Amino acid sequence: MKVKRLEISGFKSFAQRAVLDFPDGLCAVVGPNGCGKSNVVDAIRWVLGEQSARQLRGQAMEDVIFNGAQSHKPTGLAEVSIVFENAGTISAPQYADLAEIMVTRRLYRNGESDYQINRRPCRLKDIQQLLMDTGLGNRAYAIIEQGKVASFIDSRPEERRLWVEEAAGITRYKNQKKQSLKKMEGARENLDRLQDIIIEVD
Ligand code: ATP
Repeated sequence: MKVKRLEISGFKSFAQRAVLDFPDGLCAVVGPNGCGKSNVVDAIRWVLGEQSARQLRGQAMEDVIFNGAQSHKPTGLAEVSIVFENAGTISAPQYADLAEIMVTRRLYRNGESDYQINRRPCRLKDIQQLLMDTGLGNRAYAIIEQGKVASFIDSRPEERRLWVEEAAGITRYKNQKKQSLKKMEGARENLDRLQDIIIEVD
């Protein structure tokens, strides 16, 4: 799944709407210190559902909203959209046939937030499911920041295995298995309860 475009507005140093196109081949974001290069990566992490303000180099999630500069007043809303080219990598059947998929996240200063897929409201869970096994999900190896290679090498074998599973595309199936086992457990408890009632009635 290839990132085609990123649209950032009111997010960190991006007061006004900025559109970044990522054409085929190698792309680099260059600029002087403090101009907002890392904020681009933060925007990608955030729109894909990052829940930790620390991972976004802030204290609270509200810190991602543009908080004003000499030339601009603070904004009341941060919005980031990411557009993917779907080269057959999306396994979710409802999106499998679409050539492009746009994921959007918004956060208002009053704390309200929402997510969209192709401009339709959705849950964070839908985005997580969409990204599962693409390398952009929870155990995203698509973003390799400073220190990540060292932490991978130093991690415990069980942790490393999770990365390999994501790369191998089996995270989705492991999750489905976990959910099915949970449902089976619920059904088993219901059966036990039913059995007790039958004994009581008899
Ligand atoms: P370097 O090359 O030094 O690593 P960089 O280009 O990666 O820098 P960033 O870390 O992306 O720069 O951006 C830092 C800038 O973003 C700072 O000027 C900071 O004030 C600004 N910034 C961060 N959060 C906000 C915010 N919520 N509102 C306005 N500006 C912000």
